[in-house]
Amino acid sequence: MNKLTIKDIDVKNKKVLIRVDFNVPQDKDFKITDDVRIKAALPTIKYCLDKGASKVILMSHLGRPKGKVVDEYRLTPVALKLAVLLGEPVKKLDDCIGELVKKDIEEASERVVLLENLRFYKEEEKNDAEFAKKLASLGELFINDAFGTAHRAHASTEGVTNYLKSAAGFLLTKEIEYLGGALNNPKKPFVLILGGAKVSDKILLIENMLNKADEIIIGGGMCYTFLKAQGKAIGNSKLEPERLDLAKSLLDKAKEKNIKILLPVDNVVSDKIDGTGKVDAVGENIADGLIGVDIGPKTVDKFCEALRNAATIAWNGPLGIFEVDAFSNGSRKVASFLGNLSAIKIIGGGDTAAMIAKFGLEDKMTHISTGGGASLEYMEGKVLPGIAALSDK
Ligand code: AMP
Repeated sequence: MNKLTIKDIDVKNKKVLIRVDFNVPQDKDFKITDDVRIKAALPTIKYCLDKGASKVILMSHLGRPKGKVVDEYRLTPVALKLAVLLGEPVKKLDDCIGELVKKDIEEASERVVLLENLRFYKEEEKNDAEFAKKLASLGELFINDAFGTAHRAHASTEGVTNYLKSAAGFLLTKEIEYLGGALNNPKKPFVLILGGAKVSDKILLIENMLNKADEIIIGGGMCYTFLKAQGKAIGNSKLEPERLDLAKSLLDKAKEKNIKILLPVDNVVSDKIDGTGKVDAVGENIADGLIGVDIGPKTVDKFCEALRNAATIAWNGPLGIFEVDAFSNGSRKVASFLGNLSAIKIIGGGDTAAMIAKFGLEDKMTHISTGGGASLEYMEGKVLPGIAALSDK
């Protein structure tokens, strides 16, 4: 990896400014309902404290306050939770830039300070240079550990790097290592599993992976556009008619490149997608009025067989409507099979990560990406501004 990481910099006696992702869900009483993102930032924070940083100054966004101070998006509940998880007090400030903020940081007896929500300023998302300079002036070194926003050039992800030596934190380093490294130059054979709702969301991903993968497995809602393109009957399954030509041309391209595309050979169908209808198993073709909601058992076997000897496996998108238990078997069985393989197993963010968590298989995967949009863009082969801007080694 050619970017500086937290291990390459000396934080001793330094004020370290860290961009974290504390964009956590809260209920109506501001109780944090999922603290995974706060926990995920602890290794980087603790490392800086252990290595003698004079101050750890944390900054994050929360929700979409759209450039205005909105009380419900204050980071105060996050600071309280962080203090508990960290086991030491955290000073929460009511602003993120300015002389008062600087003074408060200087005078704080706490080692850890959390700035107020960055997105209370519209300048944050506009990557305003002055705002970035003001943020940078609070620290002496910058660490980015917020992968979820690394695909956006914001003041706190890209702008600040113009003023401070900048390194990747532990979370970001792992994303760069796996999504950037292992997928860019995968150990072969490399098998990609694709699913999820729509073909249109994954076009760039498929195109990029046609240059890297040996086999591509396609399930989920998006497979029906491909099946239809092959002349199969898909009943009332999810179809993007305007993508039929594209699906055909992707299938042709794969053939030219000698890349195997595996599609379902049987399906679980229902007349309703919410699990309240009648559920049935059918073969390759789906009758009118019925919807493909999951891959069938023969397809599970076929997909698992293709995965058995892979050295690298990447997965983006569930193979069925996994949120409904009756439609989750296909995804669950393939995920369990994957769990027992010794390949490098990389799970794309968002829904796919939620699916692996639902199946309780997190520990069986090599890497589960923390970012939804960022993860997809990285797998598409795009340069993420928050990573590109970090200092070179
Ligand atoms: P994505 O965010 O693109 O990975 O899409 C994930 C969503 O795709 C999940 O909410 C699944 O319920 C949905 N999905 C998976 N299989 C199907 C299917 N056969 N029909 C409709 N939606 C599906």
